[in-house]
Amino acid sequence: MKKEEEQGIRLYMFQTGVLKCKENNIKMNASLEPYEIPVPWYLITHPKGNVIIDGGNAVECATDPVGHWGDITQVYWPVMQEKEGCVNALKELGIAPESIKFVLQSHLHLDHTGAVGRFPNATHIVQRNEYEYAFTADWFAAGGYIRKDFDKPGLKWHFLKGEADDGFDLFGDGSIRIIYTPGHSPGHSSFLITLSQSAPLLLTVDAAYTTDHWDDKALPGFLASAVDSVRSVAKLRFLASKHGATVVTGHDPDAWPSFKKAPEFYD
Ligand SMILES: [Zn+2]
Repeated sequence: MKKEEEQGIRLYMFQTGVLKCKENNIKMNASLEPYEIPVPWYLITHPKGNVIIDGGNAVECATDPVGHWGDITQVYWPVMQEKEGCVNALKELGIAPESIKFVLQSHLHLDHTGAVGRFPNATHIVQRNEYEYAFTADWFAAGGYIRKDFDKPGLKWHFLKGEADDGFDLFGDGSIRIIYTPGHSPGHSSFLITLSQSAPLLLTVDAAYTTDHWDDKALPGFLASAVDSVRSVAKLRFLASKHGATVVTGHDPDAWPSFKKAPEFYD
């Protein structure tokens, strides 16, 4: 039997349910019709240690959305089950919490912080300007940051320095690269995952919510900077083309069902 260390790199896709909102929360100036978006997150198993990207909603959203998120639930209503919480979903897959070496944060919005502080051996990696903004957000953005999710005692953090760390290569083997893509939030990151069998996967996360946003047909319904958002998409399109990457947008109800979900994986 193959030992765990000999297994190649695998990427698993998960979701912590959906958020119920309105179309214009996702696509600027779109309708007020109800709109439902998936909340994706990712696991990468790697010989040097397992890696979570984001972790979706905190599991508390399954039982007490208003208690955990407060008034923002009037805009984004989380619908998820406890078994979809990242710790539970990983256990279902046979992945022990202790095996998680890194939790990579695209940014610190509430539907991405479900993994922070739940994996005892993990170092959490985020852009420094995102971390600082999460504590000092402007009025229009403050509701998107749930401080109790990321301000926990004893967390190990590693902060990235924006442009200076662009392309940060987590294991030094090119398998997981962190791309600086500000705009949706001040310190947003996307991820380029290089595998052995499949084409590379470009996880835009919220740098592109949907294919409309990727194709310059809509601005996202929420952003910190329109100019940076548009330029980050242009940068990602260049990277996707250069690497022949499959693009995975961040909250896309149309594209998301086309990807394999755990326990299936990409390798
Ligand atoms: Zn976000």
